[in-house]
Amino acid sequence: MKTHDTTDVAIIGAGPSGAAAAAWLARRGINVRVIERQRFPRFSIGESLLPQCMVHLEACGLLDAVQTGDFQFKNGAAFTWRDRYAAIDFRDKFSPGPGTTWQVERADFDQRLIDGARQAGASVEFETQVEAFVADHDRPSLTLVDANGEQRSLQARFVLDASGYGRVLARLTGLARPSTLESRCALFTHIEDRIDCSHYDRDKILIGLHPEHSGIWYWLIPFSQGRASVGVVGDRATLEAAGVDDNERLWHFLHAEPRLNKLLANAKAIRDIGRLEGYSADVEQLHGPGFALLGNAGEFLDPVFSSGVTIALDSALRAAPLVERQLAGEKIDWDSQFEQPLRRGIATFREFVDAWYDGRLPRIIFNDQQIPRIREMISSVLAGYAWDEENPFVAASRRRLHSLAEACSDISSHATGEG
Ligand SMILES: Cc1cc2nc3c(=O)[nH]c(=O)nc-3n(C[C@H](O)[C@H](O)[C@H](O)COP(=O)(O)OP(=O)(O)OC[C@H]3O[C@@H](n4cnc5c(N)ncnc54)[C@H](O)[C@@H]3O)c2cc1C
Repeated sequence: MKTHDTTDVAIIGAGPSGAAAAAWLARRGINVRVIERQRFPRFSIGESLLPQCMVHLEACGLLDAVQTGDFQFKNGAAFTWRDRYAAIDFRDKFSPGPGTTWQVERADFDQRLIDGARQAGASVEFETQVEAFVADHDRPSLTLVDANGEQRSLQARFVLDASGYGRVLARLTGLARPSTLESRCALFTHIEDRIDCSHYDRDKILIGLHPEHSGIWYWLIPFSQGRASVGVVGDRATLEAAGVDDNERLWHFLHAEPRLNKLLANAKAIRDIGRLEGYSADVEQLHGPGFALLGNAGEFLDPVFSSGVTIALDSALRAAPLVERQLAGEKIDWDSQFEQPLRRGIATFREFVDAWYDGRLPRIIFNDQQIPRIREMISSVLAGYAWDEENPFVAASRRRLHSLAEACSDISSHATGEG
């Protein structure tokens, strides 16, 4: 093995968290090497951004790289269940900050981010895989294997793992632990949507709930140029029972949701069906000697509120300044300065995910007698401002969601006469 390549910071993975950390550090003159196993552009799931992302993209100097792209404007989320429809406009929110963002085809979005990081001075090696790791407070090192099967080692002063579902360091250091969330399965594809309905709001992600099966839900994420991403999420057994292959299963479920069935009447799939399952994951700890875990390489919850890229960027923008300070000789307490504050926002999303699957959040969202100030607080979290402790639905999410859902069930059963 050829050996002793060195750098200040090695980053595993060139997705959003890796690119954001790389750009931030490289702009400050720090030597950054990003190691990416795939060739870009490459498909990735995770296409609906939250407005909070814009703050992070700006902070690492990548907003311009994305702003010049042809991405679909997004100002909120709409929800549908049977004949009900509720739309949340992220501009009406409690927390300060941007209220709009984009829905993006990740192949293009991720390429723009990593190109931006390169322009900032980071060097990037594609088609090179990280296969082994030795933790060390001052000199952690990686074993890399390139496309020709050549092996070499890379020694760094700090390693950031941004390997997403690869979960490289979680596996290699034994930090991986299962998520306490149920294992679910997602089937998805891209379509030419050919939607000609004048009421359809292209500026929002549309999330549908199956009319009968609680726990099965859909996304319709419009892109620019008449394309869109569609998917269904549910437990594996129910999805599998719906057809002989994933194509049949996905379309069976899409046709079962009345609004999507109508909207997608003329849709044409433009890529093979994708499947991801058991994607929720966790780790014992988000850091160790000489390394920290970013984005999905640490904890991933669930796709329902499109929080993945937001958490990925947030983790990168928390870790990068700490790495800079550690390299400058400062002692960093990664637990109190990185892990705990990052996990607080993830915990907020977690409460919302739990409330989605146990039915409280749908009850809140579809309740038509909403107090505007409370709706703004919910809107803020769904817009990604899950770290804003001023928001009572962040500071005390569980209690607030619980009592609001109780109040909503009273209101809606009164309003509909259900019992
Ligand atoms: C069904 C589904 C739908 C989703 N929808 C949304 C959504 O609408 N909005 C949203 O924000 N999030 C969504 N997500 C989550 C989103 O996909 C992720 O949270 C996001 O991509 C995480 O970014 P990242 O930078 O952590 O990792 P990634 O984007 O996964 O990037 C990791 C990179 O690391 C590379 N890598 C892996 N292993 C190695 C290795 N050994 N060596 C070198 N490189 C390696 C990979 O090739 C990859 O390019 C969804 C997730 C699922 C499962």
